[in-house]
Amino acid sequence: MNDDWRSHPEDFKLLAFTFDDGPDPGNTPSVTAKVADIFAEHNGSATFFLIGKYLEQNGGAEVAKYALSKGSELASHSYSHLDSATMAELSEEEFTKEIDGNNQLIEELTGYTPRFYRGGGYARNARIYERLEKLNMPAVGALISLGSDYSGGTATVESIVDNILGAELLDGTIIGGHSTNKKYVTPDALEIILPELYKQGYRFCTLSELFEYKGADYDTAPIHCHITRVETTEDGSPEVHTKWRTYLDSWKTHPEDYKLLAFTFDDGPSPAKDNRMVELFAKYKGSATMFVTGTSCKNYGYESLQNAINNGWDIGNHSMSHADAYTGSQKDGTYTELTYDELKYQIADFNALLEANLTMPDGVTPYEVSLYRPPQIRTTETMFDVCIEEDMPIIWALRDTYDWSSKYTDEMRYDNMKAGIGTWKDGDIILGHITKDITYNILADLLDDFYDAGYRFCSVTELMEYKGIERSDISGKLNNVDGNKGMVTNIANAATYGKAE
Ligand SMILES: [Zn+2]
Ligand SMILES: [Zn+2]
Repeated sequence: MNDDWRSHPEDFKLLAFTFDDGPDPGNTPSVTAKVADIFAEHNGSATFFLIGKYLEQNGGAEVAKYALSKGSELASHSYSHLDSATMAELSEEEFTKEIDGNNQLIEELTGYTPRFYRGGGYARNARIYERLEKLNMPAVGALISLGSDYSGGTATVESIVDNILGAELLDGTIIGGHSTNKKYVTPDALEIILPELYKQGYRFCTLSELFEYKGADYDTAPIHCHITRVETTEDGSPEVHTKWRTYLDSWKTHPEDYKLLAFTFDDGPSPAKDNRMVELFAKYKGSATMFVTGTSCKNYGYESLQNAINNGWDIGNHSMSHADAYTGSQKDGTYTELTYDELKYQIADFNALLEANLTMPDGVTPYEVSLYRPPQIRTTETMFDVCIEEDMPIIWALRDTYDWSSKYTDEMRYDNMKAGIGTWKDGDIILGHITKDITYNILADLLDDFYDAGYRFCSVTELMEYKGIERSDISGKLNNVDGNKGMVTNIANAATYGKAE
Protein backbone atom coordinates (compact mmCIF):
# COMPACT_ATOMS: atom_id res chain seq x y z
CA MET A 1 0.00 0.00 0.00
CA ASN A 2 1.34 3.32 -0.97
CA ASP A 3 -0.31 6.68 -1.16
CA ASP A 4 0.81 10.17 -0.37
CA TRP A 5 -2.10 11.08 1.89
CA ARG A 6 0.28 13.04 4.08
CA SER A 7 0.61 15.67 1.36
CA HIS A 8 -3.15 16.34 1.64
CA PRO A 9 -4.25 15.09 5.06
CA GLU A 10 -7.28 17.39 5.02
CA ASP A 11 -8.94 14.97 2.60
CA PHE A 12 -9.00 12.19 5.19
CA LYS A 13 -10.41 11.44 8.60
CA LEU A 14 -7.49 11.07 10.97
CA LEU A 15 -7.15 8.76 13.96
CA ALA A 16 -4.34 8.87 16.49
CA PHE A 17 -3.99 5.41 18.02
CA THR A 18 -2.02 5.40 21.26
CA PHE A 19 -0.59 2.35 23.03
CA ASP A 20 0.45 2.27 26.67
CA ASP A 21 2.73 0.18 28.88
CA GLY A 22 5.46 -0.65 26.34
CA PRO A 23 8.10 -1.38 25.43
CA ASP A 24 7.72 -5.10 26.07
CA PRO A 25 11.20 -6.58 25.80
CA GLY A 26 10.04 -9.82 27.52
CA ASN A 27 7.69 -10.77 24.69
CA THR A 28 8.92 -12.61 21.61
CA PRO A 29 7.97 -11.24 19.25
CA SER A 30 7.43 -7.82 20.78
CA VAL A 31 3.80 -6.65 20.69
CA THR A 32 5.01 -3.06 20.49
CA ALA A 33 7.12 -3.85 17.41
CA LYS A 34 4.26 -5.79 15.80
CA VAL A 35 1.84 -2.92 16.35
CA ALA A 36 4.32 -0.43 14.87
CA ASP A 37 4.69 -2.73 11.84
CA ILE A 38 0.96 -2.98 11.24
CA PHE A 39 0.59 0.80 11.21
CA ALA A 40 3.53 1.14 8.81
CA GLU A 41 1.91 -1.46 6.54
CA HIS A 42 -1.16 0.75 6.41
CA ASN A 43 0.75 3.88 5.53
CA GLY A 44 0.32 5.14 9.02
CA SER A 45 1.85 5.52 12.43
CA ALA A 46 0.87 5.47 16.09
CA THR A 47 2.09 6.76 19.44
CA PHE A 48 3.59 4.60 22.18
CA PHE A 49 3.43 5.76 25.80
CA LEU A 50 6.47 4.11 27.35
CA ILE A 51 7.21 3.03 30.90
CA GLY A 52 10.81 3.92 31.74
CA LYS A 53 11.62 0.86 33.81
CA TYR A 54 10.77 -1.41 30.86
CA LEU A 55 12.75 0.77 28.52
CA GLU A 56 15.78 0.14 30.76
CA GLN A 57 15.40 -3.63 30.56
CA ASN A 58 17.53 -5.59 28.19
CA GLY A 59 16.10 -5.13 24.68
CA GLY A 60 13.63 -2.43 25.74
CA ALA A 61 15.41 0.43 24.01
CA GLU A 62 15.73 -1.66 20.82
CA VAL A 63 11.97 -2.21 20.70
CA ALA A 64 11.34 1.51 21.21
CA LYS A 65 13.86 2.50 18.56
CA TYR A 66 12.30 -0.01 16.19
CA ALA A 67 8.86 1.63 16.64
CA LEU A 68 10.48 5.00 16.03
CA SER A 69 12.10 3.70 12.83
CA LYS A 70 8.65 2.67 11.60
CA GLY A 71 7.45 6.28 11.88
CA SER A 72 5.78 5.99 15.26
CA GLU A 73 6.09 8.49 18.06
CA LEU A 74 7.35 7.88 21.60
CA ALA A 75 5.69 9.49 24.61
CA SER A 76 5.96 9.17 28.39
CA HIS A 77 3.85 6.87 30.53
CA SER A 78 5.99 7.68 33.61
CA TYR A 79 8.97 5.74 34.92
CA SER A 80 7.14 3.13 36.98
CA HIS A 81 3.38 3.46 36.35
CA LEU A 82 2.25 4.57 39.82
CA ASP A 83 -1.33 5.50 40.67
CA SER A 84 -2.54 9.01 41.56
CA ALA A 85 -2.35 8.53 45.32
CA THR A 86 1.18 7.11 45.23
CA MET A 87 2.34 9.88 42.89
CA ALA A 88 0.98 12.46 45.35
CA GLU A 89 3.02 11.01 48.23
CA LEU A 90 6.40 10.46 46.55
CA SER A 91 9.42 12.38 47.73
CA GLU A 92 10.39 15.24 45.45
CA GLU A 93 13.29 13.20 44.11
CA GLU A 94 11.20 10.12 43.34
CA PHE A 95 8.47 12.26 41.79
CA THR A 96 10.97 14.00 39.51
CA LYS A 97 12.31 10.63 38.40
CA GLU A 98 8.79 9.58 37.34
CA ILE A 99 8.14 12.54 35.06
CA ASP A 100 11.22 14.62 34.21
CA GLY A 101 13.46 11.58 34.64
CA ASN A 102 11.39 9.46 32.28
CA ASN A 103 11.65 12.13 29.59
CA GLN A 104 15.42 12.15 29.96
CA LEU A 105 15.60 8.37 29.92
CA ILE A 106 13.60 8.10 26.69
CA GLU A 107 15.79 10.75 25.14
CA GLU A 108 19.04 9.06 26.25
CA LEU A 109 18.06 5.58 25.15
CA THR A 110 16.25 6.36 21.90
CA GLY A 111 17.40 9.82 20.86
CA TYR A 112 13.77 10.99 20.77
CA THR A 113 12.42 13.75 23.04
CA PRO A 114 8.91 12.85 24.20
CA ARG A 115 6.29 15.61 23.87
CA PHE A 116 3.19 14.04 25.45
CA TYR A 117 2.42 12.48 28.82
CA ARG A 118 -0.10 9.99 30.11
CA GLY A 119 0.05 8.80 33.69
CA GLY A 120 -0.01 5.11 34.57
CA GLY A 121 -3.70 4.15 34.69
CA TYR A 122 -4.34 7.79 33.70
CA ALA A 123 -3.01 8.84 37.11
CA ARG A 124 -3.79 12.48 37.65
CA ASN A 125 -3.54 14.94 40.47
CA ALA A 126 -2.63 18.56 40.95
CA ARG A 127 1.03 17.76 41.59
CA ILE A 128 1.35 15.93 38.28
CA TYR A 129 -0.40 18.69 36.36
CA GLU A 130 1.72 21.36 37.97
CA ARG A 131 4.86 19.56 36.85
CA LEU A 132 3.54 19.05 33.34
CA GLU A 133 2.79 22.76 33.13
CA LYS A 134 6.38 23.48 34.08
CA LEU A 135 7.57 21.14 31.33
CA ASN A 136 4.92 22.47 28.91
CA MET A 137 3.95 18.87 28.22
CA PRO A 138 0.27 18.11 27.51
CA ALA A 139 -1.45 15.16 29.19
CA VAL A 140 -3.26 12.96 26.72
CA GLY A 141 -6.47 11.04 27.30
CA ALA A 142 -8.50 9.04 24.79
CA LEU A 143 -12.00 9.51 23.44
CA ILE A 144 -12.46 5.79 22.95
CA SER A 145 -10.49 2.72 23.94
CA LEU A 146 -9.77 -0.72 22.56
CA GLY A 147 -11.07 -2.21 25.82
CA SER A 148 -9.15 -4.27 28.38
CA ASP A 149 -6.22 -5.11 26.10
CA TYR A 150 -3.55 -4.52 28.74
CA SER A 151 -1.31 -7.35 29.87
CA GLY A 152 -3.54 -9.89 31.62
CA GLY A 153 -6.70 -8.06 30.49
CA THR A 154 -9.85 -9.79 29.30
CA ALA A 155 -10.05 -8.29 25.81
CA THR A 156 -10.39 -10.62 22.84
CA VAL A 157 -9.81 -9.92 19.18
CA GLU A 158 -13.59 -9.82 18.73
CA SER A 159 -14.19 -7.43 21.61
CA ILE A 160 -11.55 -5.01 20.33
CA VAL A 161 -12.85 -5.15 16.76
CA ASP A 162 -16.41 -4.55 18.02
CA ASN A 163 -15.30 -1.64 20.18
CA ILE A 164 -13.62 0.17 17.34
CA LEU A 165 -15.56 -0.77 14.21
CA GLY A 166 -18.83 -0.52 16.14
CA ALA A 167 -18.12 3.03 17.29
CA GLU A 168 -18.70 6.31 15.55
CA LEU A 169 -15.14 7.49 15.03
CA LEU A 170 -14.98 11.24 14.67
CA ASP A 171 -12.20 12.85 12.68
CA GLY A 172 -9.25 13.60 14.94
CA THR A 173 -10.13 11.06 17.64
CA ILE A 174 -7.45 9.77 19.99
CA ILE A 175 -7.87 6.05 20.67
CA GLY A 176 -6.37 4.33 23.71
CA GLY A 177 -4.88 0.83 23.77
CA HIS A 178 -1.93 -1.18 25.04
CA SER A 179 1.03 -2.82 23.35
CA THR A 180 1.80 -5.52 25.90
CA ASN A 181 -0.93 -8.19 25.85
CA LYS A 182 0.87 -11.52 25.66
CA LYS A 183 -2.02 -13.13 23.76
CA TYR A 184 -1.32 -10.70 20.91
CA VAL A 185 -5.00 -9.72 20.80
CA THR A 186 -4.04 -6.09 20.11
CA PRO A 187 -2.03 -6.66 16.91
CA ASP A 188 -4.41 -9.41 15.77
CA ALA A 189 -7.38 -7.06 16.14
CA LEU A 190 -5.53 -4.22 14.40
CA GLU A 191 -4.93 -6.52 11.40
CA ILE A 192 -8.72 -6.59 11.01
CA ILE A 193 -9.49 -3.01 12.05
CA LEU A 194 -6.96 -0.99 10.07
CA PRO A 195 -7.74 -2.23 6.52
CA GLU A 196 -11.45 -1.65 7.17
CA LEU A 197 -10.95 1.88 8.51
CA TYR A 198 -8.51 2.63 5.71
CA LYS A 199 -11.22 1.69 3.18
CA GLN A 200 -13.61 4.03 4.99
CA GLY A 201 -11.27 6.95 4.39
CA TYR A 202 -9.45 7.04 7.72
CA ARG A 203 -5.70 7.49 8.01
CA PHE A 204 -3.55 6.83 11.06
CA CYS A 205 -1.06 9.26 12.50
CA THR A 206 0.96 10.12 15.59
CA LEU A 207 -0.15 12.74 18.12
CA SER A 208 2.41 15.24 16.83
CA GLU A 209 1.18 14.70 13.29
CA LEU A 210 -2.42 15.10 14.41
CA PHE A 211 -1.56 18.52 15.84
CA GLU A 212 0.33 19.47 12.70
CA TYR A 213 -2.30 18.28 10.21
CA LYS A 214 -5.12 19.93 12.12
CA GLY A 215 -3.19 23.19 12.43
CA ALA A 216 -3.33 23.04 16.23
CA ASP A 217 -0.57 24.74 18.19
CA TYR A 218 1.32 22.31 20.41
CA ASP A 219 2.90 25.13 22.45
CA THR A 220 -0.44 26.49 23.60
CA ALA A 221 -2.26 23.16 23.89
CA PRO A 222 -4.12 22.58 27.15
CA ILE A 223 -1.84 20.66 29.47
CA HIS A 224 -3.77 19.51 32.50
CA CYS A 225 -7.05 18.19 31.22
CA HIS A 226 -6.31 15.20 28.99
CA ILE A 227 -6.58 15.82 25.27
CA THR A 228 -9.04 13.46 23.59
CA ARG A 229 -9.50 14.81 20.07
CA VAL A 230 -8.05 17.41 17.72
CA GLU A 231 -10.20 18.61 14.85
CA THR A 232 -10.52 21.37 12.32
CA THR A 233 -13.89 23.04 12.81
CA GLU A 234 -16.15 24.21 10.00
CA ASP A 235 -14.69 27.70 9.99
CA GLY A 236 -11.24 26.17 9.43
CA SER A 237 -9.81 26.79 12.89
CA PRO A 238 -8.35 23.97 14.97
CA GLU A 239 -10.00 22.80 18.15
CA VAL A 240 -8.38 20.69 20.84
CA HIS A 241 -10.96 18.74 22.86
CA THR A 242 -10.26 17.63 26.39
CA LYS A 243 -11.79 15.83 29.30
CA TRP A 244 -11.91 18.72 31.73
CA ARG A 245 -10.35 18.16 35.10
CA THR A 246 -10.34 21.70 36.37
CA TYR A 247 -10.83 20.52 39.94
CA LEU A 248 -7.21 19.42 39.80
CA ASP A 249 -5.75 22.59 38.34
CA SER A 250 -2.55 23.93 39.69
CA TRP A 251 -3.58 26.71 42.11
CA LYS A 252 -5.46 23.99 43.95
CA THR A 253 -2.23 22.46 45.18
CA HIS A 254 -1.94 25.42 47.56
CA PRO A 255 -5.40 26.92 48.03
CA GLU A 256 -4.31 28.32 51.39
CA ASP A 257 -2.38 31.01 49.51
CA TYR A 258 -5.57 32.52 48.09
CA LYS A 259 -8.82 34.10 49.16
CA LEU A 260 -11.47 31.67 48.02
CA LEU A 261 -14.90 32.80 46.88
CA ALA A 262 -17.87 30.52 46.29
CA PHE A 263 -20.14 32.17 43.74
CA THR A 264 -23.60 30.60 43.67
CA PHE A 265 -26.23 31.00 40.98
CA ASP A 266 -29.89 30.17 41.50
CA ASP A 267 -32.88 29.21 39.37
CA GLY A 268 -31.20 27.17 36.61
CA PRO A 269 -30.84 25.21 34.55
CA SER A 270 -30.94 27.65 31.68
CA PRO A 271 -28.63 25.91 29.24
CA ALA A 272 -27.08 28.72 27.20
CA LYS A 273 -26.60 30.85 30.31
CA ASP A 274 -25.24 27.92 32.32
CA ASN A 275 -22.71 27.10 29.62
CA ARG A 276 -21.39 30.63 29.20
CA MET A 277 -20.95 31.00 32.96
CA VAL A 278 -19.10 27.69 33.18
CA GLU A 279 -16.87 28.80 30.34
CA LEU A 280 -16.18 32.13 32.06
CA PHE A 281 -15.08 30.50 35.31
CA ALA A 282 -13.00 27.93 33.43
CA LYS A 283 -10.85 30.81 32.15
CA TYR A 284 -9.71 31.25 35.75
CA LYS A 285 -9.39 27.51 36.37
CA GLY A 286 -12.28 28.02 38.67
CA SER A 287 -15.82 26.89 39.25
CA ALA A 288 -18.93 27.83 41.19
CA THR A 289 -22.23 26.35 42.33
CA MET A 290 -25.62 26.24 40.67
CA PHE A 291 -28.83 25.83 42.65
CA VAL A 292 -31.45 24.40 40.34
CA THR A 293 -35.16 23.59 40.46
CA GLY A 294 -37.08 20.54 39.29
CA THR A 295 -39.34 22.76 37.22
CA SER A 296 -36.41 24.16 35.22
CA CYS A 297 -34.89 20.69 34.86
CA LYS A 298 -38.16 19.49 33.40
CA ASN A 299 -38.12 22.35 30.91
CA TYR A 300 -34.45 22.39 30.00
CA GLY A 301 -32.98 18.98 30.79
CA TYR A 302 -29.72 18.10 32.49
CA GLU A 303 -27.08 18.51 29.81
CA SER A 304 -25.81 21.92 30.88
CA LEU A 305 -25.72 20.73 34.51
CA GLN A 306 -23.62 17.74 33.55
CA ASN A 307 -21.31 20.09 31.67
CA ALA A 308 -21.01 22.18 34.82
CA ILE A 309 -20.14 19.12 36.92
CA ASN A 310 -17.57 18.09 34.33
CA ASN A 311 -16.00 21.51 34.87
CA GLY A 312 -15.77 21.13 38.62
CA TRP A 313 -19.05 22.80 39.57
CA ASP A 314 -21.50 21.78 42.29
CA ILE A 315 -25.14 21.28 41.47
CA GLY A 316 -27.27 22.11 44.51
CA ASN A 317 -30.97 21.64 45.24
CA HIS A 318 -33.25 24.72 45.05
CA SER A 319 -36.42 22.62 45.54
CA MET A 320 -38.61 20.71 43.12
CA SER A 321 -40.92 23.58 42.22
CA HIS A 322 -39.29 26.69 43.72
CA ALA A 323 -41.66 26.34 46.63
CA ASP A 324 -41.62 28.75 49.57
CA ALA A 325 -41.29 26.94 52.89
CA TYR A 326 -44.07 29.12 54.20
CA THR A 327 -46.46 31.65 52.77
CA GLY A 328 -47.80 34.64 54.61
CA SER A 329 -45.95 36.45 57.39
CA GLN A 330 -44.11 34.62 60.14
CA LYS A 331 -44.22 37.77 62.27
CA ASP A 332 -47.96 38.09 62.69
CA GLY A 333 -48.50 34.35 62.76
CA THR A 334 -50.78 34.25 59.72
CA TYR A 335 -48.78 31.89 57.64
CA THR A 336 -48.91 28.37 56.31
CA GLU A 337 -45.89 26.08 56.32
CA LEU A 338 -45.08 23.28 53.96
CA THR A 339 -45.66 19.99 55.77
CA TYR A 340 -42.97 17.41 56.39
CA ASP A 341 -44.22 15.31 53.45
CA GLU A 342 -44.30 18.33 51.17
CA LEU A 343 -40.75 19.24 52.11
CA LYS A 344 -39.65 15.64 51.58
CA TYR A 345 -41.04 15.92 48.06
CA GLN A 346 -39.41 19.32 47.47
CA ILE A 347 -36.00 18.30 48.79
CA ALA A 348 -35.46 14.52 48.98
CA ASP A 349 -37.42 13.59 45.85
CA PHE A 350 -35.65 16.28 43.87
CA ASN A 351 -32.27 15.01 45.09
CA ALA A 352 -33.19 11.57 43.76
CA LEU A 353 -34.29 13.01 40.43
CA LEU A 354 -31.05 14.98 40.01
CA GLU A 355 -28.97 11.99 41.00
CA ALA A 356 -30.76 9.79 38.46
CA ASN A 357 -29.75 12.20 35.71
CA LEU A 358 -26.23 13.28 36.65
CA THR A 359 -22.87 11.56 37.07
CA MET A 360 -19.41 12.58 38.15
CA PRO A 361 -17.10 13.73 35.31
CA ASP A 362 -16.03 10.16 34.62
CA GLY A 363 -19.54 9.49 33.31
CA VAL A 364 -19.96 6.48 35.59
CA THR A 365 -19.78 7.40 39.26
CA PRO A 366 -23.15 8.64 40.56
CA TYR A 367 -23.36 12.33 41.45
CA GLU A 368 -24.44 13.10 44.99
CA VAL A 369 -26.42 16.29 45.59
CA SER A 370 -25.31 17.67 48.94
CA LEU A 371 -26.40 21.32 49.22
CA TYR A 372 -29.77 22.97 49.70
CA ARG A 373 -30.84 26.56 49.12
CA PRO A 374 -34.43 27.36 50.04
CA PRO A 375 -36.34 29.64 47.65
CA GLN A 376 -36.80 33.17 49.05
CA ILE A 377 -34.46 32.13 51.88
CA ARG A 378 -37.48 30.97 53.82
CA THR A 379 -36.67 28.33 56.40
CA THR A 380 -38.79 26.46 58.92
CA GLU A 381 -37.95 24.05 61.70
CA THR A 382 -39.40 21.24 59.60
CA MET A 383 -37.05 22.16 56.76
CA PHE A 384 -34.09 22.04 59.14
CA ASP A 385 -35.21 18.55 60.17
CA VAL A 386 -35.49 17.34 56.58
CA CYS A 387 -32.06 18.77 55.77
CA ILE A 388 -30.53 17.00 58.76
CA GLU A 389 -32.09 13.75 57.53
CA GLU A 390 -30.67 14.35 54.06
CA ASP A 391 -27.32 15.50 55.54
CA MET A 392 -27.64 18.76 53.60
CA PRO A 393 -26.08 22.07 54.61
CA ILE A 394 -28.44 24.96 53.88
CA ILE A 395 -26.46 27.48 51.91
CA TRP A 396 -27.20 31.17 52.06
CA ALA A 397 -24.69 33.93 51.22
CA LEU A 398 -22.78 36.70 52.94
CA ARG A 399 -22.44 38.69 49.72
CA ASP A 400 -25.04 39.61 47.15
CA THR A 401 -25.11 40.61 43.49
CA TYR A 402 -28.57 42.17 44.07
CA ASP A 403 -29.57 40.92 40.65
CA TRP A 404 -32.95 40.02 42.17
CA SER A 405 -33.64 43.46 43.67
CA SER A 406 -35.55 46.11 41.76
CA LYS A 407 -34.09 48.73 44.08
CA TYR A 408 -30.72 48.31 42.37
CA THR A 409 -29.76 49.77 38.99
CA ASP A 410 -27.19 47.93 36.89
CA GLU A 411 -24.68 50.63 37.77
CA MET A 412 -25.26 50.10 41.47
CA ARG A 413 -24.84 46.34 41.00
CA TYR A 414 -21.56 46.91 39.20
CA ASP A 415 -20.26 49.26 41.88
CA ASN A 416 -21.30 46.86 44.61
CA MET A 417 -19.40 43.98 43.01
CA LYS A 418 -16.36 46.14 42.32
CA ALA A 419 -16.31 47.21 45.94
CA GLY A 420 -16.02 43.53 46.83
CA ILE A 421 -12.50 43.36 45.37
CA GLY A 422 -10.21 43.46 48.36
CA THR A 423 -13.05 43.54 50.91
CA TRP A 424 -14.78 40.21 50.35
CA LYS A 425 -13.28 37.65 52.67
CA ASP A 426 -11.83 34.20 52.24
CA GLY A 427 -14.68 31.69 52.29
CA ASP A 428 -17.46 34.11 51.37
CA ILE A 429 -20.48 32.77 49.56
CA ILE A 430 -21.98 35.12 46.98
CA LEU A 431 -25.60 35.04 45.78
CA GLY A 432 -26.54 35.52 42.15
CA HIS A 433 -28.94 34.17 39.57
CA ILE A 434 -27.89 32.25 36.48
CA THR A 435 -30.89 33.70 34.67
CA LYS A 436 -29.74 37.32 34.99
CA ASP A 437 -27.63 38.63 32.11
CA ILE A 438 -26.38 41.55 34.17
CA THR A 439 -24.63 39.26 36.63
CA TYR A 440 -22.81 37.47 33.84
CA ASN A 441 -21.83 40.78 32.24
CA ILE A 442 -20.46 42.22 35.46
CA LEU A 443 -18.51 39.05 36.27
CA ALA A 444 -17.11 38.89 32.73
CA ASP A 445 -15.74 42.37 33.40
CA LEU A 446 -14.58 42.02 37.00
CA LEU A 447 -13.35 38.43 37.51
CA ASP A 448 -9.96 39.43 36.09
CA ASP A 449 -9.61 42.04 38.81
CA PHE A 450 -10.71 39.63 41.52
CA TYR A 451 -8.19 37.10 40.23
CA ASP A 452 -5.38 39.64 40.16
CA ALA A 453 -6.26 40.65 43.73
CA GLY A 454 -5.53 37.10 44.88
CA TYR A 455 -9.00 35.57 44.77
CA ARG A 456 -9.76 32.16 43.35
CA PHE A 457 -13.19 30.74 42.60
CA CYS A 458 -14.48 27.34 43.58
CA SER A 459 -17.59 25.36 44.34
CA VAL A 460 -19.06 25.21 47.83
CA THR A 461 -18.12 21.57 48.44
CA GLU A 462 -14.62 22.20 47.17
CA LEU A 463 -14.29 25.12 49.55
CA MET A 464 -15.53 22.88 52.38
CA GLU A 465 -12.83 20.37 51.48
CA TYR A 466 -10.10 23.03 51.57
CA LYS A 467 -11.35 24.25 54.94
CA GLY A 468 -11.70 20.75 56.37
CA ILE A 469 -15.44 21.01 56.92
CA GLU A 470 -17.64 17.91 56.73
CA ARG A 471 -21.20 18.06 55.50
CA SER A 472 -22.54 16.78 58.79
CA ASP A 473 -20.71 19.63 60.61
CA ILE A 474 -22.96 22.18 58.94
CA SER A 475 -26.10 20.33 57.82
CA GLY A 476 -29.46 21.40 59.23
CA LYS A 477 -29.79 24.41 61.54
CA LEU A 478 -26.74 26.34 62.69
CA ASN A 479 -26.45 28.86 65.48
CA ASN A 480 -27.45 32.22 64.16
CA VAL A 481 -24.23 34.02 63.34
CA ASP A 482 -24.22 37.41 61.60
CA GLY A 483 -27.92 37.20 60.82
CA ASN A 484 -27.50 34.00 58.86
CA LYS A 485 -30.93 32.64 59.84
CA GLY A 486 -29.42 29.28 60.70
CA MET A 487 -27.78 28.91 57.29
CA VAL A 488 -24.21 28.87 55.98
CA THR A 489 -22.95 32.19 54.61
CA ASN A 490 -19.17 31.83 54.77
CA ILE A 491 -17.30 28.55 54.63
CA ALA A 492 -14.14 29.69 56.38
CA ASN A 493 -16.22 30.68 59.42
CA ALA A 494 -18.69 27.81 59.23
CA ALA A 495 -16.71 25.62 61.59
CA THR A 496 -17.34 28.16 64.34
CA TYR A 497 -21.10 28.41 63.82
CA GLY A 498 -21.96 25.41 65.94
CA LYS A 499 -25.21 23.52 65.87
CA ALA A 500 -28.40 25.04 67.18
CA GLU A 501 -29.97 23.31 70.19
ZN1 LIG B 1 -0.64 2.00 31.61
ZN1 LIG C 1 -34.73 31.07 43.45
